[in-house]
Amino acid sequence: MDDLRRVCFFCNKVIEEKKTLEHIIPNSLLGKLTIKEETITGRKKTQYSRIKVPAHSSCNSEFGSEYESRVLALLEDVESLYEAIKSEELGLPLMYGPDQSVSSIITTWLSKIYYGLFYYDLISTQDQEWKDICLSIVKGRNFEFVRTSYKNGYGFQLPSSLYVFKTKNTNTDLVTLVEPSSILLKIGTLTFILCICDGYLTKNYLNGESLERLRECVRHEDESNVEFPSHKLALGEIAALRSCIPKTPKFISSDNQIINMSLSTMVANPEEYYSIDKNELFKARVDILREFNIKLD
Ligand SMILES: [Zn+2]
Repeated sequence: MDDLRRVCFFCNKVIEEKKTLEHIIPNSLLGKLTIKEETITGRKKTQYSRIKVPAHSSCNSEFGSEYESRVLALLEDVESLYEAIKSEELGLPLMYGPDQSVSSIITTWLSKIYYGLFYYDLISTQDQEWKDICLSIVKGRNFEFVRTSYKNGYGFQLPSSLYVFKTKNTNTDLVTLVEPSSILLKIGTLTFILCICDGYLTKNYLNGESLERLRECVRHEDESNVEFPSHKLALGEIAALRSCIPKTPKFISSDNQIINMSLSTMVANPEEYYSIDKNELFKARVDILREFNIKLD
């Protein structure tokens, strides 16, 4: 396992030079949000500022200038950022390629944080069971594709449904789920939820009116009690839905690109064939919300 400390998080190549450490959450952001000293929840408590992964200095600075500085600039104006992501969420891109949209930049950033946290835990945890879980993510095919995608200039990501919510509650929060692989990052009033490598399957079910209903529900809970973790309610609902989608994401690698096959189908009656079982969804919601300690009336 020690050799992973000499392997670049971004490009998966051995680091021969003097290695640099990449902050998973940029220091400038931590400072601005004054969350440097906060701990993250997991098997062990860690300061956000300590979470770093090995990287080539060139890969490190490339990611920083290509994505991180743009994310930090976008976060300067949360109102515009919220509206930009909302306006882009209607599209269900069939083609996946280099893309300069706000959603793509945020997706790359969240995807890097998600994988970075597991990479960091893999090389630093003493808990064997947790190490095995981290290993399955870091050595998984999706992460291999994410890195390939980055090398091909498509962003450090695979097609992943991105959602944004706005609350009055201004606490900062970071939640990662192993299954279904997701990350929630709440920065002040904005909450981002990314369904890691779901091939846009979640977006295919949760969009338009159903998404507005979820936003309305989150808004209602947030307004009736500002202490209520309404952002986690959003994550719970999205994760429950995703866990009930009777289809698995599928990606294939061809030439210099990765193709998202998740939305294609051979069945004649996809609406019926891929419909979500209401009872199963109800059970999944109850389980996840219980895990988050959320009680609804
Ligand atoms: Zn590298």
